[in-house]
Amino acid sequence: MQAIFHGDHPALDLLNTVPRIDGELVDTWQSDADVLQWLAAAGVVTGAARAPAGLLEAGRSLRETVRRLVADKKAGKRLDVRALNAALAQGRRHLELVEDEEGTSVLAARYAADTPSQLLAPLAESVAELLATADFTLVRKCEDAECVLWFLDRTKSHRRRWCSMALCGNRNKVASFRQRRAGEA
Ligand SMILES: [Zn+2]
Repeated sequence: MQAIFHGDHPALDLLNTVPRIDGELVDTWQSDADVLQWLAAAGVVTGAARAPAGLLEAGRSLRETVRRLVADKKAGKRLDVRALNAALAQGRRHLELVEDEEGTSVLAARYAADTPSQLLAPLAESVAELLATADFTLVRKCEDAECVLWFLDRTKSHRRRWCSMALCGNRNKVASFRQRRAGEA
C-alpha cells in the first residue's frame, strides 16, 4: 500500500501508517518488509537491504508508544517516557565527516541496522526531538471527523486544518459549500 506522508514529521507519519479507509482503520504495516520499506521511504533509514525478523512487532510497539505520548502531550498530561527512552537506548550511531554535493564538509549520523531496535532508533530519536522541541499547538489531528491523520503545521499562517487538500480538504470544502447553499435556499 502506498505510504501516506502528510505528517510533515516522521513521528507523525509513523502514526499515520494506520489510516481510516472506508470507515475502517487499516494497518499499512503487515510484514517486516513493509516496515523497512516505510523507514526507507520516510528517509529514516538508508542502505538497509534486509528487514530483520521481528521488525513488524517492534515497529508496531514503538508506534503505540508514540501514539500514547503524542495524545498525552496534546492533553497536557505528564509523559511516561520509559518505553521511548528504552527504544533510544537501543540505538548505536557514530558520526561521519562527508562532503555534500557542493564539496562542503558536513557531519552525517550513521546508525547500526542489524536488529529491529537498532533500525528503529533513528525514528525514536525523531519522536524524542518532536516531544522535546515542537510547539504542540501546531501538532494537530486533521479536522475531518472521520480522518485519523496527524500533522505538524509548518505553514506560516499556522492555519492548516487538513491532512491534505486532496484527501480531506476538498471534500470538506464541498460539504460546507453545500451546507451553506442549503441554508440559503
Ligand atoms: Zn484528513
